[in-house]
Amino acid sequence: MDKLQILAKKAYALDCSLPDWEQWCQEQSLPKFTAGQIYQWIFQKGIVDPNAFTNLSQPIRSQLISSFDWTLPHVDAHLISKDTSEKYLLKTADGLLFEMVLMPYENRSTLCISSQVGCKMGCTFCQTGKMGFKRNLSSGEILSQLILANQNLKEEKVSNIVFMGMGEPLDNYDEVVKACSIMIDPKGFGLSTARVTISTSGLVPEIRKLGRDLPVRLAISLHTADDAKRSAMMPINRTYSLEILKEALLEYPAPKRYGITFEYVMIEGANDSIQDAKKLVRFLHGLKAKVNLIPINHFPGVEMKASDAERIRQFQTYLTERSIPAPVRYSRGQDISGGCGQLAAKHQDELDLDPREVSRRRRAENKKEIKK
Ligand code: SF4
Repeated sequence: MDKLQILAKKAYALDCSLPDWEQWCQEQSLPKFTAGQIYQWIFQKGIVDPNAFTNLSQPIRSQLISSFDWTLPHVDAHLISKDTSEKYLLKTADGLLFEMVLMPYENRSTLCISSQVGCKMGCTFCQTGKMGFKRNLSSGEILSQLILANQNLKEEKVSNIVFMGMGEPLDNYDEVVKACSIMIDPKGFGLSTARVTISTSGLVPEIRKLGRDLPVRLAISLHTADDAKRSAMMPINRTYSLEILKEALLEYPAPKRYGITFEYVMIEGANDSIQDAKKLVRFLHGLKAKVNLIPINHFPGVEMKASDAERIRQFQTYLTERSIPAPVRYSRGQDISGGCGQLAAKHQDELDLDPREVSRRRRAENKKEIKK
């Protein structure tokens, strides 16, 4: 189906790029600059109601309303953590749940967004991986998260985006790149490439393509620099080993100032020894790297425990003494199912259950809370 046919079928307005709007305007015999006006209302001003497009005539507004779907995902839940991070559970038009987390800091607000509902990658330490894969989010559904967060922030705007929510962004390459292009477009959200980070488990061909198409910041979910361990934790490593990944990273045009960020969940007895730290230093040789050490967030059904504070300190010291910055990052919003996929998994699980069983589980949880 070509773009004209898609647009004829009541397309999702947020899925349309500037060239899509130009094509639509041409079909409607409207001037080209009208396309720019519509695009700016949506992505620069964050307004998704054509009734508010005051520089357009009433007939054009009516035509936009009747021709396009303008609905934002439904906010099924909005939880605010003690640490001020906010988790949103969102529902797509076809009833699927996905998450975004807004993390306000003193001088910036970072939004952690999802690129898929579920994930195919099957990493053993990740709740989203346990959910399996439902579908890709479209570029408009990805951008809708940013619009919703900006609406919530009111005066301020989201300053940084990290693709670290549900899904493997590079497994939904075209939609993610389309969304990122609008994020960094001065006529769109106007963010700099240094403020958009895509985190990947290591899809090597797409990492190389991304470097050519849109050199935003890159984060790698690494978690161990031992091939056998990584293949056991992250099935992607059986296709793209550490050696193949490293070759691609050496060629990635990362911004000189920032280099590449490596995410490393600290799991007791699994990847937290000095031997593991030595392998990590060897792997990072030749790369400008920062390693985020993240004590694993416990979730039901998984036995893994976070490394203790002393073990993390020793690991961190080994890295920093070799000039590799290694801050310890605690998952924010732990009191509100803060880890990636935890809230959606909990609610999806509930959607699949008999309502009486849901009530029984909630009563049991409440009792546990009261005892605490
Ligand atoms: S860690 Fe990322 S890539 Fe791995 S299963 Fe979870 S969401 Fe997917």
